[in-house]
Order: sequence, then C-alpha cells, then structure tokens
Amino acid sequence: MNDSRRAELAARVARVTSRIVSAAETVGRNPTDIALVVVTKTWPVSDILLLHELGIRDFAENKHQEAESKVAEVIGLDLRWHFVGQIQSNKATRIARYADMVHSVDSVRVTERLNLGAHRHERSIDCLVQVSLDDETARPRRGGTNWTELEDVAGAIDGAERLRLAGIMGVSPTGGDASGAYHRLLEASRMVTAVTASATVVSAGMSADFEDAVRAGATHVRVGSAILGQRSALR
Ligand SMILES: *Cc1c(COP(=O)(O)O)cnc(C)c1O
Repeated sequence: MNDSRRAELAARVARVTSRIVSAAETVGRNPTDIALVVVTKTWPVSDILLLHELGIRDFAENKHQEAESKVAEVIGLDLRWHFVGQIQSNKATRIARYADMVHSVDSVRVTERLNLGAHRHERSIDCLVQVSLDDETARPRRGGTNWTELEDVAGAIDGAERLRLAGIMGVSPTGGDASGAYHRLLEASRMVTAVTASATVVSAGMSADFEDAVRAGATHVRVGSAILGQRSALR
C-alpha cells in the first residue's frame, strides 16, 4: 500500500515539476526561482512523510486545527509550513506558533494578531498579503484585500516587529481567466515591492492553472490535487 502510494506520489511530483520547468522556460525564467508548495489538506501525515522522502520541504494547510495536529506529528523534520486558508483573527495567534509563511493575510487585525502570536512564541513569520482577484460579482468569493486596502495591510505587516513583508498571494476566480487574474496580481506585486523592495514573493497557481501562474511570474505555486489526487467531495 505504502509502496504503491510512494510510486504514485513520485510520478506526480516528477510530472508537476517538469511542467513547472517547461512553463518557466517558455518565458525565459529560471525554474529554480519557483518553489513548489504541496497543499496536503485532507491528506494524512503518512503522505507528508512520503513526500518528504521524495525531497519536498514546503507544505501548506488551509485550516488551523488540521494544520496544528499535522505539524505536531512531524516535529523534528526539516519542513517549512505555509498557511494558505482564510484566517479568523481569534486563531491567528495560534497559527503564529507553527507557520513559517502565512500567505493569506488580508486585514490589519489579522496582522496584529499574528504579530502578537509571533512575539509570544518568539518566532518571526514571513507574510504575504492576499489580494482579491475576484470581480465584484464573483461567487464564491475567494477572499483577500481589495486594491484600496492593499497598501494599508502591507504597511501594517511591514511595521510589525515580528513579521516580514515577503510579498503577495492570489487565488484565481472560479471558472475565470486565470492568466488575466495573475497578470493583475503582478501589478499588485509592484505596489508591495514599492513598500519593501525585498517583498518579491508572488504566490499564485493551483493544480488547474499553475503553468499560467508561472508564465505570469509566480515565485510560489500551491499544488494539491495534481500531486495527491482528488479530495473527497465532502471536504
Ligand atoms: C486547496 C488549495 C490549493 C490547492 O488546490 P488544488 O486545486 O488541489 O491544487 C491552493 N491554494 C489554496 C489557498 C487552497 O486552499
């Protein structure tokens, strides 16, 4: 069972990696500038261990409780944890305990809570501002700041002692034009690098559209189902 799962994951990691490399090369980018973050939500810790053996080090979760319990099970492994889900501000201090990079910072309030948690746990955390790529009528809304709030949130992160403004993140609208959305995200990236020149991370792209994201300039792609398989309809 474990052996066949290992072979399946190895083949899918290899396939996704080669697609990232090809997409980068078509636009003259260096493939090593693009980080593959594997989104393990709903999948067991045994898969995280297999992926770690295959060389994956960046893992993402989107729900605090699930993330917290998985992190506790793999303590001591050299992993980087990414938090990519919507953040209720009452959970933010607890997310600060384990997250190395939070992709989904979308308010000043969440920024303050993350900074408080980072102080409490004596850590520092890389933060991305999640920018909404929805148009006004999009349903479901995928979250994120609107363009007028973007600079406020970026400034709050930049001013927080324990947080580092690392860049921006976007989730493409369901059924929409991913490529166009990711090009808008790159404009948002320029606004954020104007706040802090080193905030160059652009987290964009999921299983359905990571090649579009790479061609548009993403530095981090967040891939779940193309590596782990379809999540059950219940989750
Ligand atoms: C689930 C999730 C992903 C990965 O989605 P797939 O389509 O399974 O690749 C990426 N980003 C966020 C924010 C997610 O919640």
